[in-house]
Amino acid sequence: MFSATKIREDFPILRRTVHDRPLVYLDNAATTQKPRQVIESLVRYYETNNANIHRGIHTLSVEATEQYEAVRGKVALLIGAPSNDSIVFTRNTTESINLVARSWGDANLSEGDEIVLSLMEHHSNIVPWQLLARRTGARLRYIEVTADGHLDLDMARQLIGPRTKLVSLVHMSNVLGTINPIGEIAGMAHAAGARFLVDAAQSAPHLPIDVTGLGADFLAFSAHKMLGPTGVGVLWAADGLLSEMEPFLGGGEMISLVRQDESTWADLPHKFEAGTPNIADVIGFGAALDYLAGLGMPAVREHERNITAYALDRLGALPGLNIHGPSDVDQRGGAVSFSLEGIHPHDISTILDSRGIAIRAGHHCAQLLMRALDVPATSRASFYIYNTEDEVDALVEAVEAVQRVFNGVSHRTAV
Ligand code: PMP
Repeated sequence: MFSATKIREDFPILRRTVHDRPLVYLDNAATTQKPRQVIESLVRYYETNNANIHRGIHTLSVEATEQYEAVRGKVALLIGAPSNDSIVFTRNTTESINLVARSWGDANLSEGDEIVLSLMEHHSNIVPWQLLARRTGARLRYIEVTADGHLDLDMARQLIGPRTKLVSLVHMSNVLGTINPIGEIAGMAHAAGARFLVDAAQSAPHLPIDVTGLGADFLAFSAHKMLGPTGVGVLWAADGLLSEMEPFLGGGEMISLVRQDESTWADLPHKFEAGTPNIADVIGFGAALDYLAGLGMPAVREHERNITAYALDRLGALPGLNIHGPSDVDQRGGAVSFSLEGIHPHDISTILDSRGIAIRAGHHCAQLLMRALDVPATSRASFYIYNTEDEVDALVEAVEAVQRVFNGVSHRTAV
C-alpha cells in the first residue's frame, strides 16, 4: 500500500528544517531527494567494493563490474528495453541528447534537412540541435503550444514531412506538466521517414514507460530526477541504431584495438562509454531503481495524479493566480507552474523559502516557452512520491501570505 508518510521515513533530508520550519521540498522537477537506501549503497560501494571496472581480474574489480552492469539490466527493466546493450550510461539527459546530435546527427543530416522540435522544449533539447544545424546546414522547425498547454498537433502534422530527418520532443513538460501524445507523434515521424527522440527527463521518473510501445528511436533521461545520484544519465536507442553510429567520445574502455593511425571500437554499449565511468553513482542509481520498482511505477503515477489534482484544485481557487498548463490530471504530471498577478516569481520563491518551502522560480531552462506564454518567468511547484496534501496546504497558505504582503505594499504605495 503506497503511503507518502511512510516513504518520507526513508529520506533523511526531509527531517531537516529551513528557517526554523520543516522543509517542504517542492522542487522535484529540478532534482529529487535521495532515500537512505541510495545513500547507503554509495557508502557501501566505497567502503567495500571500490575499484575500476571492466579492467581488472581482481575480486574488487570483478564485483564492481558486476554491480555496475547489473544496473543496466535494471534500467532495461524499467523502460521495457529488450536488450541491455541498447542502454548507454552518460552524465545526464543533456549529454545523452548531445551524444545523439553528434554521433547520429553529424552522419545523417545535411543542408536542407529539417529537425522538428517544439516550443515547450528544455534548452537541452534545443541547443544541441542548434549546434548540429550550424555544423550541417539543417534547419530547425518548432511546433507551437496551444493556449491550454498542449502541442498544436495540426501544426505538427504540417511541419513533419519529407524534409524532416528528426523529431525531438519532450515526453512530459518540466514547466506545464503536459504529457505529450508520443505515440501519435512517433507515427507522424516514422511515416515521414524521420527518427524520433524522446526527452524523458520528466517522464521516466513519474510514469510507467515501455519503449517498445512508445515508438521512440532514442530515449534520454537522468538518474538524479528519480531518486538517484547526480552525474548519471541514460540513453536508450532502438535496435541497430547504436551499432551504425560513430563514437561520441574517444579514449579508454571504448576501443577494441588501437593502432597508430586508427582504432576499432568495443562492443555495444561500451563503444559509447569512454573513460572511467561514474561507477559509484551508477550503482547508487541501481538502488534508486530498486526503490521505485518496490513501489511500482503505476503507484508512483497514481500518487502524483492525486496530489497534482489536489494542488490544482487548491491553487486554482486562489484569486489572481493563473496556472499554466493542462487542467486535466490525466494529461499532465506534477510540475505545476503558476503566475500571481503583479508579483515576480523570485519574490514568491523568496517568501516561500522563509517558510521552509522550496519551489523554483525562473525560466526553467525553457525560454522559448516563456516567450510563448508571454511571461518573463513562472513559479513552479513539482511533486514526487514523498509529498503530502499537508505540504500542498502549506504551499497554498504561503502563497496567500505572499498575496497579503504584496497587496498591502501596493495599497500603501497607492496611498
Ligand atoms: N529535459 C527536461 C524536460 C528537463 O526537465 C531537464 C532537467 N530540468 C532536462 C532535459 C535536462 O536534464 P539534465 O540537467 O539532468 O541534463
